[in-house]
Amino acid sequence: MVYQADAQRYAGMVYHRCGRSGIKLPAISLGLWHNFGDATRLDNSRQLLRHAFDNGITHFDLANNYGPPPGSAEENFGRLLREDFAPYRDELIISSKAGYTMWDGPYGDWGSRKYLIASLNQSLKRMGIDYVDIFYHHRPDPETPLEETMMALDHIVRQGKALYIALSNYPADRAAEAIGLLKQLGTPCLIHQPKYSMLERAPEQGLLDVLQKEGVGCIGFSPLAGGILTDRYLNGIPDDSRIASGSQFLSADRLTPENMTRVRELTELAAQRGQKLSQMALAWVLRGNRVTSVLIGASKTSQIDDAVGMLANPDFTGQELARIDAILG
Ligand code: NDP
Repeated sequence: MVYQADAQRYAGMVYHRCGRSGIKLPAISLGLWHNFGDATRLDNSRQLLRHAFDNGITHFDLANNYGPPPGSAEENFGRLLREDFAPYRDELIISSKAGYTMWDGPYGDWGSRKYLIASLNQSLKRMGIDYVDIFYHHRPDPETPLEETMMALDHIVRQGKALYIALSNYPADRAAEAIGLLKQLGTPCLIHQPKYSMLERAPEQGLLDVLQKEGVGCIGFSPLAGGILTDRYLNGIPDDSRIASGSQFLSADRLTPENMTRVRELTELAAQRGQKLSQMALAWVLRGNRVTSVLIGASKTSQIDDAVGMLANPDFTGQELARIDAILG
């Protein structure tokens, strides 16, 4: 059946300005790292995208290597874009990235001009689009001069192959340097994408201050710690969960007694707020207006509903925040 987006899709979502740019991003964005590769049923991926957009989630985040196999998430997304979302292209913010290993040899990884430009060309072909809205350098490269990487990003914007450029996984000092270079080049950095959740608070050690000072947005990835900060693993490891799938990025050893005690105590506190833990965990990342959007993953449409439900109670009392800090230790 031809997809027709819900006419009410903008009624419930909240949109935050991204740093000092002209762009607003939804408080919740959807990442396609898992559940969009060739190993997933395309029909489920289609339902996830439709459901997200019907709820006002206008930002879909990809990377060259998402799959498995690498590249297949972009290919499948491209197909769904053509089949379902072609009339809505101008209502979408589509991002992709390069920075991790993508092809054999010395030019398929890290941060050279050669790799970034070739990789984005491949991504555009896989998705069947002329430009991405945001193109990221996915991780800092210890060997390539930062000037070369930033000049390549600037060039990509001037070519019209990306509207904005961005950084991911850069520590605070490297991010400050890169943001400065981009400013000099005349292509300001739109947003930074760090890992940020109740179980991963590194951005609080300087990065969020840099972004705020420089007027750069922040989109926190894995805000649910891959599912640990939900009710998913409260009673064991369900067969259809990420851990049971044998993910190399999330294994049962993360379910330590310490983490599970935290998860239980946080679940109780969330219930007192009339929320699920997953909802409180997303609201927590967004607290204080320093984070533009939370970048979630989902394997079921009900998980997107949970995330959107967070918007009913995004605020915390000082007491609640202190209790969360105490639980997290
Ligand atoms: P999350 O921390 O949001 O984890 C998502 C997973 O948690 C889901 O796939 C699902 O797993 C489980 N889950 C979600 N909602 C619920 C719920 N309500 N109840 C129970 N379980 C739930 O994020 P991801 O780790 O998936 O990362 C999100 C995005 O961030 C990626 O798609 C990607 O775009 C980006 N990212 C960027 C990186 C970078 O280096 N820049 C690195 C990693 C991610 P299950 O399968 O068990 O149902």
